[in-house]
Amino acid sequence: KLAASIRQLCKEYRLSSGSVVALRDVSFDVPEGDFVSIMGPSGSGKSTLLNLLGCLDRPTSGGYFLGTDDVARMSDDQLADVRANRLGFVFQSFNLLPALSVLENIELPLHYSGQLSRTSRQRCERLAQRVGLGDRMDHRPMQLSGGQQQRVAIARSLVNDPRFLLADEPTGNLDTSTTAEILDLLTELNNEGRTILLVTHEPEVADLTRRTVVLRDGGLIYDGPPTGARAAL
Ligand code: ADP
Ligand code: ADP
Repeated sequence: KLAASIRQLCKEYRLSSGSVVALRDVSFDVPEGDFVSIMGPSGSGKSTLLNLLGCLDRPTSGGYFLGTDDVARMSDDQLADVRANRLGFVFQSFNLLPALSVLENIELPLHYSGQLSRTSRQRCERLAQRVGLGDRMDHRPMQLSGGQQQRVAIARSLVNDPRFLLADEPTGNLDTSTTAEILDLLTELNNEGRTILLVTHEPEVADLTRRTVVLRDGGLIYDGPPTGARAAL
């Protein structure tokens, strides 16, 4: 079964000065349970691809299927529902709210969708424990290390139990040992059957995934084992 299928995806940004083709004819399948890294130089289209996969933007042409659902045919409301319930997002800069506690940050998606309840609070507490922050639930993000903040963000991304996680340079702001811890956590989530796709500049991070897709100038130039990606970069 496929978590996602990307078919000849193209994205063109129109500017007053002309247009930029950010993605050209990119095709690949993501089987359920896969762990994919996206690599490529700056400007190669990685952010654009992640935005499309995250249903944050629409392609100029081509197809994107989540499971068997054709994302291109969905309304904006349906896309918002997909983002909230079927996808989890993790960012380089964590994107936590500084005034909220760890637990409140984890609960935030439920707050937005009006689903806060006693049982949801217990679920968020379990998620905090799950990422190793059971004794920090009342702390503010500022009181945590970068790695701990990213754990909060990962717990928040899991709050609606999505099967597919999208991560944009999740270790880009972390040192080597913290990077390894976060990759361990992501690997555990992958071993539970969640599909993960992350963007990274670091070959050492890509090596811990199952498969690497390399973009250059908006085109897919490599799709295979991480070890083979170095030659393509
Ligand atoms: P990365 O750190 O992945 O290389 P970039 O610095 O290229 O990302 O882009 C950061 C954000 O800025 C992206 O979300 C992208 O949509 C936006 N962006 C990049 N280039 C442009 C541009 N020429 N005009 C407007 N927005 C851009
Ligand atoms: P990467 O993430 O690999 O750095 P991006 O997807 O950010 O690459 O950018 C791919 C190309 O598209 C670049 O040439 C960038 O300048 C351009 N681009 C990205 N976002 C925008 C945007 N919102 N408007 C115009 N151009 C953009």
